[in-house]
Amino acid sequence: MNDLLLSSQIPGVIAILTALFSGACAGSFINATAMRAARGRKWWGSERSCCDKCGRTLSAADLVPIFSFIFLRGKCRYCGNEIARRHFAAEAVSSVLTCGLFIRWGLSPALVLSLAALWFGLFNSLTDIENGFIYDWGAIPLGLIGIALRLAYGGRPAALDGVYGAALGFGVIAVIILISRGGMGWGDAVLMLGIGGAMGLRYCALSLYAGFFAGGIVILPLLIMKRVTRKDAVPLGPFLAAGSVFVLFTGSFLVRHLAALLGRDAGWPWM
Ligand SMILES: [Zn+2]
Repeated sequence: MNDLLLSSQIPGVIAILTALFSGACAGSFINATAMRAARGRKWWGSERSCCDKCGRTLSAADLVPIFSFIFLRGKCRYCGNEIARRHFAAEAVSSVLTCGLFIRWGLSPALVLSLAALWFGLFNSLTDIENGFIYDWGAIPLGLIGIALRLAYGGRPAALDGVYGAALGFGVIAVIILISRGGMGWGDAVLMLGIGGAMGLRYCALSLYAGFFAGGIVILPLLIMKRVTRKDAVPLGPFLAAGSVFVLFTGSFLVRHLAALLGRDAGWPWM
């Protein structure tokens, strides 16, 4: 009886481990790509990964996501230099959230859409944190992928919903930029264009709300404690991306309750 129960759970365990490992690998690749982009180096092609300090080319054993960092105790095997925590952080965040989205959506087209939003969001967060820059080519493809997937699985209404989401995301940030004259950057607007294309109108609105809410919770106390001033450029991309990921987990719950208030039905992602 117990054996039977155990064997029926093994495929689930393997799926979870696969999701965790895939997420860690994606995080490793995204982090490396973001570092190269932010430092103006080409990120495609055959450039090998090397130690940030001694420049030694890293072997496969040094590059296993998460595990290498733990086994090497966060230090380079060759020069003992501390490996930047961001490698581990990006891999761990991607691993856990990839697995979470897999559990949330199962093997489905909605999972592909969710992972695109997560991974592009992570990339843009990393470049925004490192040099305050969100690249058009790192954000716009998310919107295009989102609208294409919507068209493929949900038809024209779903694709149009993606277009509306992109317009809302870009438009809201653009209005804030024009009113505040520099409170946010055009990179944030382009990021929300990408996120909106993937999320659609209602999920984009919720993402904006959640993103601003998260930003407010973190930045307001820093302002009050004078750890940052209003003139400091606080990167807002990570909060916007975090808002969208939060909505990927909670959006249908939120929309269902809002829809009940508004007397409408709702089913992400295609309508
Ligand atoms: Zn080294």
